[in-house]
Amino acid sequence: MKKIISCFAFFALLTHSYVFAQTVPKSTNLVDFVNPLMGTQSKFSLSSGNTYPAIALPWGMNFWMPQTGKMGDGWSYMYDAEKIRGFKQTHQPSPWINDYGQFSVMPMTSLKIDENARASWFSHKAETVKPNYYKVYLADYDVTTEITPTERAAQFRFTFPKSDSSYVLLDAFDRGSYVKIIPSERKIIGYTTKNSGGVPANFKNYFVLVFDKDFKFSSAWNNKKIAKDTLEVKANHVGAIVRFETKTGEKIGLKVASSFISYEQAERNMTTELGSDTFDQTQEKGRKIWNQELSRITVEGDNLDEIRTFYSCLYRVLLFPRKFYEFDAKGKVVHYSPYNGEVRPGYMFTDNGFWDTFRAVFPYFTLMYPTMNAHIMEGLANAYDESGFLPEWASPGHRDCMIGSNSASLITDSYVKGIRGYDINKLYDAIIKNTSHAGPVSSVGRFGHDYYNKLGYVPYDVKINENAARTLEYAYADFCIAQLAKELKKPQAEIDLYLKRSQNYRNLFDPQTKWMRGKNEDGKFQTPFNPFKWGDAFTEGNSIHYTWSVFQDVKGLVGLMGGGEAFVQKLDSVFTMPPIFDDSYYGFPIHEIREMQIMNMGNYAHGNQPIQHMIYLYNYAGAPSKAQFWLRQVMKKLYQPTPDGYCGDEDNGQTSAWYVFSSLGFYPVTPGTTQYVIGSPLFKKATITMEDGKKFTIESPKTSAANLYVDGATMNGKPYGNTYLEHKDIQKGGTLQFNMISTPSKAWGIKPEAAPFSLTK
Ligand code: CA
Repeated sequence: MKKIISCFAFFALLTHSYVFAQTVPKSTNLVDFVNPLMGTQSKFSLSSGNTYPAIALPWGMNFWMPQTGKMGDGWSYMYDAEKIRGFKQTHQPSPWINDYGQFSVMPMTSLKIDENARASWFSHKAETVKPNYYKVYLADYDVTTEITPTERAAQFRFTFPKSDSSYVLLDAFDRGSYVKIIPSERKIIGYTTKNSGGVPANFKNYFVLVFDKDFKFSSAWNNKKIAKDTLEVKANHVGAIVRFETKTGEKIGLKVASSFISYEQAERNMTTELGSDTFDQTQEKGRKIWNQELSRITVEGDNLDEIRTFYSCLYRVLLFPRKFYEFDAKGKVVHYSPYNGEVRPGYMFTDNGFWDTFRAVFPYFTLMYPTMNAHIMEGLANAYDESGFLPEWASPGHRDCMIGSNSASLITDSYVKGIRGYDINKLYDAIIKNTSHAGPVSSVGRFGHDYYNKLGYVPYDVKINENAARTLEYAYADFCIAQLAKELKKPQAEIDLYLKRSQNYRNLFDPQTKWMRGKNEDGKFQTPFNPFKWGDAFTEGNSIHYTWSVFQDVKGLVGLMGGGEAFVQKLDSVFTMPPIFDDSYYGFPIHEIREMQIMNMGNYAHGNQPIQHMIYLYNYAGAPSKAQFWLRQVMKKLYQPTPDGYCGDEDNGQTSAWYVFSSLGFYPVTPGTTQYVIGSPLFKKATITMEDGKKFTIESPKTSAANLYVDGATMNGKPYGNTYLEHKDIQKGGTLQFNMISTPSKAWGIKPEAAPFSLTK
């Protein structure tokens, strides 16, 4: 029997309930399709996502997670681990960037402070993981822990056995922490200062914990030892323990909230977000919030794994950037500045590397969340006020990670798609400043800007690393600046300057090898040149991956390569060449190299971001069916809703956003323009609900594993021959229908005028 799975509406489920009984969880909640463990079976040497189960609300200021790794270890939750050391409030965007402001709680029935001694065995078979709910059985203590979060607070529910020594331990972590126990209020307050960089000197995460039962005993601890009869301690590494007498199966509740501003604000966050809600009420509210965001896109298909993958990916798209702001006594938005340490009015978001997320995560927000996107823009303007620069990789302040000037892409994409309500002129000034300044760290501003502005590229031989990648990304950023300058009606000379610079990619195109190649200051290409060499002139990739980073002018690149046929052959070659690599720049195969090598897709390295748009480039050369073929290969082979479900670092929603867009059938190849490039729709029907309630429906009734090729399309009933969509056509609602067949179409989308936007006509 052919299974039809529909998760778009309750009545639809009822209509098809006779088939659903076998394949779909009883619940009609989309949140039940999310597997937060997707990507958690990862390690330093090989990433299947390098994710952790973020028990959180969308973009929450605080996330929670079971902690299997040691204090300070970026690999905080590993699927293959056997023991849990505590339940950690976390702000970690990536294991490579690590955490800040973290602290943990741990229930136990015998007192052990040391994180190794106290760790308890657990099993995934006795673990429930939902975005808004986590439950696990701690076998060594016979204690069950449940967690349910709000944006800045959380509730815990511990189920203890009969014991006169039922403890809950608070670990405020090292590098300077403080706790104070107030038994009469069943309360602990304190702070953690633990961080991995990118914080002002006065950085603190202030926390408050309130239990629902009187303590039999309580004590602070310092450096793993009980500080006898002490309820307050400040030192390098402190914490607290509270003891209860419990009956069999007795449940003890704990409410936790925190603030980057003050204890008073932490209390306010608790009152505002938890109030008198029970654990179950908080859980229900979280479920509703997740369902509301996930149901903005509903998909129907005949493959449950694809639906699980879709919603697991969508969950990841909706986690970052983090709302790094709070509501003061008057309900006004305020934030602790991770840049200058002041408490300031207005929005702030953080924990994001734009090098990853400019590609598809922020375009998802500009399409689906224009109101929040305006808040993000205001946050960028605030970051510029507070630090003099736009963030590129923030966690929570500027971090020295990756390259580029990609904030220009976010800002332009937002503005050209009509999002308003923030100081665009300030943001324009900020991106213009980037073009002639290096920032406080090499990832901020433009490292090598003087060479770039003078020569049209960042030279290979002037001790600026990853120079070719910088040149390509700066040229794309310059295109974005020109687009925004046009929108803002800046002087023509200014527009022309950035348009000219947007052609700088040409300076690195080597006509001999037809790959992008580092160039020395004297104008000669660097030598010897090995297009398989990772790093060096490029960033976490090689020339084969980076040659396609000409988002703004693919047709220009087609021309450089010698025309459409040569271009298509070059694209084909990426898949057909063996996965050979040169890792000498790093001295060992970094995990991204290994992830490329083992996938049996040649030199196509979907596990890292630089190449993730490449497949769509077939559309620019009259070969959309080749894009359709390879997109399906990637969707099928490199994504599963399982702990090893990604093919490399997930990276703050980017690798997930690729799947969300690609499975719908389109992708934002060139943020900063209003187009999306059409691929191969995976689902029979997908309904996108815009912020204003309008619906855009994509219908592909014949799509299947075999029928992956587009043989025609209609938009609102009229023939549609472009291989791209316009933002406004989606935004205003309507119906796009695809006719899917099992062999490459000989007609659809192959004419030059069907191709998406390029600067070169
Ligand atoms: Ca990456």
